[in-house]
Amino acid sequence: MLIVNNFIGGEWTGSSSGATFESINPADTSDVVAVVSRSVREDVDNAVEAAKGAFRRWRLTPAPRRGEILFRAAELLAKRKKELAELMTREMGKVLTEALGDVQEAIDMSYFMAGEGRRLSGETVPSELPDKDCKSVRLPIGVCALITPWNFPMAIPAWKIMPALVSGNTVVFKPSSYTAACAAQLVEILQKAGLPAGVLNLVNGSGEEAGGYLAAHDGIDGLSFTGSTAIGLAIAKGCAEKGKKVSCEMGGKNAIIVMDDADLDLAVEGAVWGGFGTSGQRCTSSSRVVVHQAVYDRFLKMFSDAASRLRLGNGLDEKTDVGPLINEAQMKKVLNYIEIGKGEGATLLTGGGVCREGSCAKGYFIEPAIFAGVTPGMRIAQEEIFGPVVSVIKARDLEDAVRTVNNTAYGLSSAIYTRDVNKSAYAERELDTGIVYINASTIGAEIQMPFGGTKRSGYGHEEAGGRGGALDMFTKWKVIYRDFSGKLQKAQIDR
Ligand code: NAD
Repeated sequence: MLIVNNFIGGEWTGSSSGATFESINPADTSDVVAVVSRSVREDVDNAVEAAKGAFRRWRLTPAPRRGEILFRAAELLAKRKKELAELMTREMGKVLTEALGDVQEAIDMSYFMAGEGRRLSGETVPSELPDKDCKSVRLPIGVCALITPWNFPMAIPAWKIMPALVSGNTVVFKPSSYTAACAAQLVEILQKAGLPAGVLNLVNGSGEEAGGYLAAHDGIDGLSFTGSTAIGLAIAKGCAEKGKKVSCEMGGKNAIIVMDDADLDLAVEGAVWGGFGTSGQRCTSSSRVVVHQAVYDRFLKMFSDAASRLRLGNGLDEKTDVGPLINEAQMKKVLNYIEIGKGEGATLLTGGGVCREGSCAKGYFIEPAIFAGVTPGMRIAQEEIFGPVVSVIKARDLEDAVRTVNNTAYGLSSAIYTRDVNKSAYAERELDTGIVYINASTIGAEIQMPFGGTKRSGYGHEEAGGRGGALDMFTKWKVIYRDFSGKLQKAQIDR
């Protein structure tokens, strides 16, 4: 069992109240992974103060040097990849291969942002007046609060921490209380990579207590949140009222379209991976599959056969395909949605039961569930369930399928399986989601591209890399005009 403290001003310290909570293995609730400091307001105040103090020097540290620290962190992460992935599987349940991928994303992001230290460019453009020049430079925004969920315990924190740091910001990081041990490992690696005291601070604790207080703190200059839509929108509102820069990555109700000309084997593989990977607990999970009527029955048979073959269990066992849900509340929520689906008249084709056999005896396991006969307006087709439950909806044609996909409050990710280039081009243009996949499932974003959603999935488009990605969230522009004519020149007027 690990002891996980806060990290404030370069010191690992317990909560000033002395209170703690436990981080529990969801595959085996008798396994206490960590005892974690439960932060109170004073701890958050101290962390913000430390970040504020460190900002004065960090913002003036040359960006390539800031990048070198991230490069060293990437190397340390890579060295410890397997051990970190095993801890992740133990702490939040995803199967080991996926946990290895999660750590890999943190490694990739660290290397990528290390390079950005030499590319934090602005623009130099001609002036409309003689003997005058115009340039814009990127500056850090100041103290950034970063609040993250449990489902990508290292990848999502890295998506935020690395760009925030390379841009010259200092950070107060509040991870999900369900993955505090993973978060502490990431922070410790950055400490070992040479980050000066106070540049990155960690406060553990509950969302309401530590998270809510941090989000409303007057000492922060910007906030980046990933989590559920209701909380994200409330945070965005609070930041807007105080004029703070904010970005929120939120929930999803993602869909795969399967056309009549699709490679059905490939589409089924994509639907299984997208629907049941991470037990359906990804913001980009394919919780809806919209199938052309001509292949609907065949697809359903192939999909439910494949889902019923999936093996539930502890993610550390290499035979396991699907791990547990994160906690009891989430399990109850998913079971409730299964009842809602039945009540709405959808047909539960496979799964949906609680598994308590063998290695599932002490965890939160639900058999992968598929509903057929779902209509677009049903609650199971509209609301984010965040579990291994997929709704299959029949479509008349491509236009009908695209309308169905777009007909939700969310807009994170979508996919189409087709061999017809014209159909894929139409879908690419018309699907109202931040990410579109062609002949691939709704999951699998790469860190060198921006990541984010439309509608209630995203408020800002900040995560990961790429132009318009994280660096735009974590920097502000300053524009500098230099007149060396030695006389008064008036823009727009002297022309
Ligand atoms: P959550 O909203 O419950 O919690 C996210 C974070 O916010 C946690 O650190 C939590 O402690 C904190 N928090 C909770 N209440 C708070 C409050 N009142 N003020 C400030 N902070 C608070 O979400 P979760 O259960 O951890 O994660 C699942 C959700 O995250 C799903 O809706 C999923 O779609 C979404 N998600 C989105 C993305 C994306 O990039 N769009 C990625 C992963 C997860």
